Amino acid sequence: MEQAQEIQEGNSEKKYTLQHNRPDCIGCAACEAVAPDFWEMHEDGKSDIKNCKKLDNEWEELDISKKDFELNKEAAETCPVNVIHLIDKKTGEKII
Ligand code: SF4
Repeated sequence: MEQAQEIQEGNSEKKYTLQHNRPDCIGCAACEAVAPDFWEMHEDGKSDIKNCKKLDNEWEELDISKKDFELNKEAAETCPVNVIHLIDKKTGEKII
């Protein structure tokens, strides 16, 4: 029981930052198709990360947990103009 709880906590810790270079998004909607819980199309033709923090340079950011990493990595790999990034918060490494 205790171990299960630890694993669960490990999974829910927000270890990664999902980033969207929104100015360079071409609005193809692939991210929304791959990960609709995290991405949605906006009426201006570009996508948004749901419930994200909006930065002054119009990039968007959202901290995500390990369990949501693979899905968003898939969205990033699907993006034809590579404007979706994932950062390891601890090391600062840009994973994609
Ligand atoms: S896949 Fe990339 S270019 Fe297409 S809407 Fe999403 S972020 Fe924009």
